[in-house]
Amino acid sequence: MMVNTEQITHAVHEVRASVSDVARRCGRSPEEITLIAVSKLHPVEALLAAMGAGQRHFGENYIQEALGKQQELEKSGDHDLRWHFTGRLQSNKAKYIPGNFCLVHAIDSIKLARAVHSRAEHQAEATGSAFCQDVLIEVNLAREEQKAGIDESALPQLAETMEALPAIHLCGLMVLPPFSLSVEKRRPFFARLRELRDGLQQRLGRKLPTLSMGMTDDYIQAIEEGATLVRVGTRIFGPRPAKQ
Ligand SMILES: *Cc1c(COP(=O)(O)O)cnc(C)c1O
Repeated sequence: MMVNTEQITHAVHEVRASVSDVARRCGRSPEEITLIAVSKLHPVEALLAAMGAGQRHFGENYIQEALGKQQELEKSGDHDLRWHFTGRLQSNKAKYIPGNFCLVHAIDSIKLARAVHSRAEHQAEATGSAFCQDVLIEVNLAREEQKAGIDESALPQLAETMEALPAIHLCGLMVLPPFSLSVEKRRPFFARLRELRDGLQQRLGRKLPTLSMGMTDDYIQAIEEGATLVRVGTRIFGPRPAKQ
């Protein structure tokens, strides 16, 4: 697929500007919100185009593809990139997370939390450092069967279990509202995620600063409801090529 560098550069600037505008309009500081360019299935050239516009946070959903891109981009110099794992993580792939991704967005079971924790402990031992992997819990608010994410009734127990795992650090929550709903009807899901976060903060007695919510169609509504990470793909890179 041809990469239109100019178009991607332009889109990054536009999305950044709109994120800032929306933040200010609802009395928030634009610095509270980080734009993640979700680059899954797009070629390295597309990421380079976004980097040219100052983009540093990228989201990827497939481990092998992400590691390949990381290697290629490292070859082209030290760009200080921040990689987010935004996809569904299988426990047996947890070993690829520590050291390669700053944040895992979609922990949704105790099994997966333990798998990431165990690999983070390995990483700490291997590097002789106090390594800790940042993670989010994905909540399946609409109880969609085909979707990942934990049921909100099981959220407190998962969060408390994770608190006892020293090599992972729970930073907040993530949601993907039902795509079938109109954008305005997705807003209550963002508001609900924030409420759940507030409740969990009380329960754990500490801050959970991160709310990962909002994509191409609904990042404005998500910011209005408190998003701190917005995950935007199509609006920046155009339509995604099909998965091979
Ligand atoms: C692909 C993806 C995105 C980006 O979606 P767009 O609609 O293209 O902006 C955001 N979040 C997650 C979890 C994704 O898988």
